[in-house]
Amino acid sequence: MIFDILTLLPEVCRAYGRASILGRAQKAGLIELRLTNVRDFAYDRHRTVDDSPYGGGNGMVMKVEPLVAALESLPGKPEPRIILMSPAGQPFDQGLAAELAGLERLVLICGRYEGVDERVRKLAVDQEISMGDYVLSGGELPALSVVDAVSRLIPGVLGGAGSAARDSFSDGLLEHPHYTRPAEIRGLEVPEVLLSGNHAAIERWRKKESLRRTWLRRPELLERLDLSGEERDLLAEVKAEES
Ligand code: SAH
Repeated sequence: MIFDILTLLPEVCRAYGRASILGRAQKAGLIELRLTNVRDFAYDRHRTVDDSPYGGGNGMVMKVEPLVAALESLPGKPEPRIILMSPAGQPFDQGLAAELAGLERLVLICGRYEGVDERVRKLAVDQEISMGDYVLSGGELPALSVVDAVSRLIPGVLGGAGSAARDSFSDGLLEHPHYTRPAEIRGLEVPEVLLSGNHAAIERWRKKESLRRTWLRRPELLERLDLSGEERDLLAEVKAEES
């Protein structure tokens, strides 16, 4: 899968893309992260990429020409989906990550300042994605979040097969708690069942704790799910224990 990020801060994106899982995925050829500095496509001596807003007001707006020229400099194939990072976009979630993971290529446009001239949307953008109902200083963290969440879903990117399938949200639930050595620390013990070696009992515990956490913290997620009979029984146990 190919990701093109259009940004004024390629060094920020490069650093994240080189580290850890994304770095390994790039080395293994499973993903390719390409960075385009929009400022390279400014056409004046001062390399201007922003200008004051028509109608007045604070802040600066990213100009159309450098962004469109940067987009037009990219290879046309494989055909990308062109995404603008924007607080006004579709809220990003695991379902959208899974949909994007089925595509061959994404182009992610990072705004800065007050945002981008509205006509960029009209001229070039297929979709707008928001990282949540808060405002960041730029689209880099949102774009990297998309690259990261989508890459985890590409087969081979995560070492242990199945770890993505277990993550929070993959089955619509929050994930169960995790523990590692030591078995006791500062009076806190690891739940007995996890030390038992009984895989069926461990699976059941994990499913139950996943349901507990979701019910306590994000009950609205449960409403969207079609729970199995076993899951409904476990949830009933959780509710009885918590009441
Ligand atoms: N004035 C704009 C915010 C601009 S923030 C507004 O009120 O909507 C500058 C840039 O950061 C945006 O163009 C966008 O690319 C990015 N950005 C900020 N918050 C974001 C969010 N929650 N999701 C996605 N992108 C965001």
